[in-house]
Amino acid sequence: MSDLYQYSPLRLTLIVLLAVLTMGGISILWEFRLEAWTMHLFGLPYESDFENAERWRFVLTSTAFSFMSLILPILVLKRLVSNTRQSYRRMQWAHSQTQTLAYYDSLSGLINRRKFMDLLTEWLAASQPVVIFLIDLDHFKPVNDNHGHSVGDSVICEVASRLEDIALEYGAIAARLGGDEFCLLLQADHEVSMLAQIAETVIANLSAPMPEIVKPSGLGATVGISRSTVDATDASTLLHFADTAMYRGKQSGRSTYNFYDPQYELERRALSDLQFALTLAVERQEIVPFYQPIVALPGKQVVGFEILARWIKADGSVVMPGDFIPVLEDLGLLAAVTRSLLAQACAASRQWRGDYRLSLNISAAMIIDECFPNALLAQLQQLDFPCSRLELEITEEALVGNLDAARRNLSKLQAHGITVSLDDFGTGYSGLYHLTRLAIDKIKIDRSFFEPGAINHLPMVEAILGMARSLNMQVTAEGIEEFHLPHLPEWLARNGCHFAQGYLFGRPQASAQALASTCNRPSGALAVSALQGSR
Ligand code: C2E
Ligand code: MG
Ligand code: MG
Repeated sequence: MSDLYQYSPLRLTLIVLLAVLTMGGISILWEFRLEAWTMHLFGLPYESDFENAERWRFVLTSTAFSFMSLILPILVLKRLVSNTRQSYRRMQWAHSQTQTLAYYDSLSGLINRRKFMDLLTEWLAASQPVVIFLIDLDHFKPVNDNHGHSVGDSVICEVASRLEDIALEYGAIAARLGGDEFCLLLQADHEVSMLAQIAETVIANLSAPMPEIVKPSGLGATVGISRSTVDATDASTLLHFADTAMYRGKQSGRSTYNFYDPQYELERRALSDLQFALTLAVERQEIVPFYQPIVALPGKQVVGFEILARWIKADGSVVMPGDFIPVLEDLGLLAAVTRSLLAQACAASRQWRGDYRLSLNISAAMIIDECFPNALLAQLQQLDFPCSRLELEITEEALVGNLDAARRNLSKLQAHGITVSLDDFGTGYSGLYHLTRLAIDKIKIDRSFFEPGAINHLPMVEAILGMARSLNMQVTAEGIEEFHLPHLPEWLARNGCHFAQGYLFGRPQASAQALASTCNRPSGALAVSALQGSR
């Protein structure tokens, strides 16, 4: 189309000149030859000795007329052509702008997701081996938040330029898929070691400082790799797989790379199904407390119950806490569930004969939450359950994260008469540090010390009991079973252990059974007063 508008003034002048000459020639031919011949042909009267001057006047007049009748439309046409040409140029520019916007990222200049997908689809359709390196920046958000978006933009441009260098080196194409997500598209079937080397180069280059932009950048990159030769042959699945592999790296501490692994994908899907089911379970109040009796030694009378969470599914099956407590924690639902368990247990305890104590397991996040003490105290008041009958079980791992916050919170609760016990003692850090820095009232010796065949652990138990005595702490021995060490409770009592818990005295059970067991045993009230006396 552009050829149509390719003309020059000289060309136009020549055309006009040619037209005028042609008109002049035709006029001469007509006037001196064809006119007489035509008149004769039609038998019309004709004055042959017409004066030459007259004839030339006619030639000039007709040529001039022809010239004038040509020049005017040509001028109009020229203007028209020039306008059309301008519009066409504008249209061409707009078209190229649209193309650029449609296929290129305006900030980094890299190809965008659309162009990337087009290329990927095209290569896969041609059965060419393709490798995707999906790259997500680590810690980009703090750069934006702390230094502003213009610095963030400069970082994106710098990352794009570093990726382009790597792409050039390995014959790949760099793309920005959006936000802080980039991609290298490689059209080759390299060895795994070579692909790993590329991923390592990407991580090293993107983690390198950017002193002229932001100091320190703190940036890193997590890379997910998928290959058309082993993983998938359609574009969106291949990209999704690279994304899954990248996500895995994010979960496992970032600044790393992973190849797509279908097994991991299955586990991730199972986890997200579990998360969904658990969220529903919490809404439907399917997480309920089971109760395991705790007995005082040496009399073995029940003095309290540990609240142990169980998920009773709609089909009646029971899920153990080890399978869902960590998931609830990740979902941020554990605090709400703990509150619900305590409320259910307090309600159930009203029907029990005796003022039994309740032991509640508390997660790390709850212990360090500033709002936790007041919320718990308010709940106990609302439930009309005395603080002196509540025991909180915490693990040492929970204390390691933020010891000061834990100490503040636990001291506040202890001041109201709530007992704090250190659960699973002997399995974690078991440092005297935690015992002395926090006012721990009680330790629960982990059940692994009393497992069948663990008889050689008894000297250790003896040592723990001696230590607790000197620190003026009470001790509960967990996991006391019926089938080994028949005289274990007596041995524990002799060595100064105050309480015991385990299948020998009762398994964790639902409320109704716990109620039944309380009816079959001596009143707990007596035992509790004995316990309080001993504290
Ligand atoms: P834990 O607090 O140390 O609870 C004691 C665990 O030992 C319970 O397992 C109990 O069933 C088991 N056990 C008690 N006696 C015996 C015995 O004689 N032999 C054997 N083999 N095991 C015995 P469970 O109920 O599966 O709970 C496991 C862990 O889950 C608990 O350990 C606790 O850390 C956690 N958990 C349970 N419920 C909750 C909860 O509501 N909140 C939080 N944060 N954690 C909970
Ligand atoms: Mg416990
Ligand atoms: Mg325990």
